[in-house]
Amino acid sequence: MNAYAGPVPDPAPSRTALVIHGGAGFVPKSSLGEADLKDIHATLDRALDAGNAVLARGGAAVDAVEAAVLVLEESPRFNAGKGAVFNAKGGHELDAAIMEGHTRRAGAVAGVTTIRNPIRLARAVMERSQHVMLAGAGAEAFADTRKDIERVPNDWFDTPQRRRQLDEAQRKEQVKSAGLATDGRGYYGTVGAVALDRAGHIAAATSTGGMTNKRWGRVGDAPIIGAGTWADERCGVSGTGWGEFYIRTAAARDICARVEYRGDSLAAAADEVINRVIPALGGDGGAIALDREGNIAMPFNSGSMFRGWIRPDGSRGTAIHESEAVR
Ligand code: ASP
Repeated sequence: MNAYAGPVPDPAPSRTALVIHGGAGFVPKSSLGEADLKDIHATLDRALDAGNAVLARGGAAVDAVEAAVLVLEESPRFNAGKGAVFNAKGGHELDAAIMEGHTRRAGAVAGVTTIRNPIRLARAVMERSQHVMLAGAGAEAFADTRKDIERVPNDWFDTPQRRRQLDEAQRKEQVKSAGLATDGRGYYGTVGAVALDRAGHIAAATSTGGMTNKRWGRVGDAPIIGAGTWADERCGVSGTGWGEFYIRTAAARDICARVEYRGDSLAAAADEVINRVIPALGGDGGAIALDREGNIAMPFNSGSMFRGWIRPDGSRGTAIHESEAVR
């Protein structure tokens, strides 16, 4: 690129990139009809469009990931916001986090029950409080101080599909009469986004209802900075899977630390954590990751992961199953 291009430089090539997920898990192809598939791909596309609109006008990565996650929270298809899974008491407790890489600012909420868009509250924690993570009643009290945070009754998050999943989980639990809230494996459905903006800044966001039939105030990996959500100067990650294992492996940070300390490629780092480190402990799931060059990785070991991406060259796609090659 040393050639003299005339007195007016060409516009800088767009270096933006965006990757989103709508959760990992085992979703048999036969369980999704034509209409379901169409709707899932269309919703992922809408989330990509929302995030990309921000990036295309030179906006910040943190705005882009919030915009993308908002679309997915509003969709009843995914386990975040409307459509969140039920806990053991038949209610919903939502977790979310957002992180901006170059400033290392982060905000998170855990176990909130009336916040329509938990990612918005996580953002408010990051920007409008001196804290990183607020939980339960305290987080709701903080929301009371914010006019821009919409509240809804807890049953607003209900969907029949999630009710069936709870019934099923409780039936299985009775059969096993195990003391565990859930056996973990199955369909997850958390949502997340990672973006690279024109300034070269990276942000990541994750939002979830957690795991079906959870109890005792269980908090998963999504709102824990470094476990399910991470962004730094060169790398960002949003995870989805059996959260306890993501916490125990500091999965999101581990992926970026491998890039930082070992000089691993993003693909190698993400693959190692998702396909070796987590399964070695007995966990499963996936993650989306992105680096400063706009490289994107989307590994998962669960058969499927709802996902979508827009690369720096503008090529984009959405996919669900493993067999769908990444274009
Ligand atoms: N990781 C989430 C949790 O453990 C679940 C998911 O990915 O859907 O709360």
